[in-house]
Amino acid sequence: MAEVVVDQVTKRYGDVIAVDRISFTVNDGEFVVLVGPSGCGKSTTLRMIAGLELITEGKISIDDRIVNNLPPGERQVAMVFQDYALYPHMTGFENIAFGMRIRKTPRAEIEDRVRRVAEQLQIQDILDRKPGQMSGGQRQRVALARAMVRDPKVYLFDEPLSNLDAKLRISARNDLIRMHQEFGTTALYVTHDQTEAMTMGDRVAVFSKGRIHQIGAPEDLYDRPVDMHVAGFIGTPGMNFLKCHILRDSDDLWVDCEGLRVKLPAELANRALAWTGKKAIFGIRPEDVYVAPAFPHEFEYDESWLTSADLEMIEPLGTETLLHMVTPAPESQRFIAVTGYLRRPLREGQALQLILDMRRCHLFDPETQKAIF
Ligand code: ADP
Repeated sequence: MAEVVVDQVTKRYGDVIAVDRISFTVNDGEFVVLVGPSGCGKSTTLRMIAGLELITEGKISIDDRIVNNLPPGERQVAMVFQDYALYPHMTGFENIAFGMRIRKTPRAEIEDRVRRVAEQLQIQDILDRKPGQMSGGQRQRVALARAMVRDPKVYLFDEPLSNLDAKLRISARNDLIRMHQEFGTTALYVTHDQTEAMTMGDRVAVFSKGRIHQIGAPEDLYDRPVDMHVAGFIGTPGMNFLKCHILRDSDDLWVDCEGLRVKLPAELANRALAWTGKKAIFGIRPEDVYVAPAFPHEFEYDESWLTSADLEMIEPLGTETLLHMVTPAPESQRFIAVTGYLRRPLREGQALQLILDMRRCHLFDPETQKAIF
């Protein structure tokens, strides 16, 4: 088991800055997910930790040892790739045993270790097959077995589930979570899928353009995003953003989005005082917009959180329904409300009374995109 420390690490390819002075620590036994859109530097970060890419600047250490110049084979890490990188001409057994063969591990020990890992992953009966004769899920398990058999200090996963179909992905994801709970080996996991990040990570690092915007527990990212990038990336559908002004009316502060006007609760109003009379971006998650009178009955809502908007489109997803709303012209700002399965008849084009749960709203600086709260 080991701690991984990434300290002010930069990676440049010519003029391209793939990773820009990032720092984070993966604690011993922790499962940390690197998430962000394609091209933001996640894989490069993982590959520098694995030793597959040179570091341009900065320091990486594993288990208190600086590994910048250590070849991959001496870092005691095991990587699982997106395409599994299995040797097509070798059986499952030979693929799993390959590293040990190279290191001239005694035959009996190889047999024993492969059998044990195969049992843990329930792939005993496909060890004689070549990758071409395995399903996607089986190949994924063989790739995982090949990593596990090395008994590494750190696992590095590079989008290992993205070639699986949706259903298999969920079960493979749960297998990985269970495995981590059982063995507790330090792990870094790269994905562009925020759901995967939120369900798997003890902590999640949100990347964009080679930088880490925020690293924290899933609930921190969800409830307290530091900026609009994190707020918009975490959660499906993402947080709604509406242009607004902050207005003062006697002792209260209001969020005014032209045609949609709601009052800030006192504790949040205090933090928005400096924005009185100024432009801001109002953020509210789709699940915090309720169709009146539905509101969690354990809470009293404030009358000033009631507003109305036009229902532009209904998007039924089965267990939930997305209501695409629009504020009055000329601003016509779009936002989404999510409700459960729709049991009452709603018509596209009708006006809906909505209640915004303002205790859970966010405000952002329109210039810097950073969170005010
Ligand atoms: P992600 O894993 O988040 O999709 P990557 O780490 O693969 O992103 O890539 C980050 C950036 O670095 C991208 O702009 C990509 O084009 C660039 N990049 C990655 N590898 C190379 C390379 N070998 N040569 C030049 N540019 C590269």
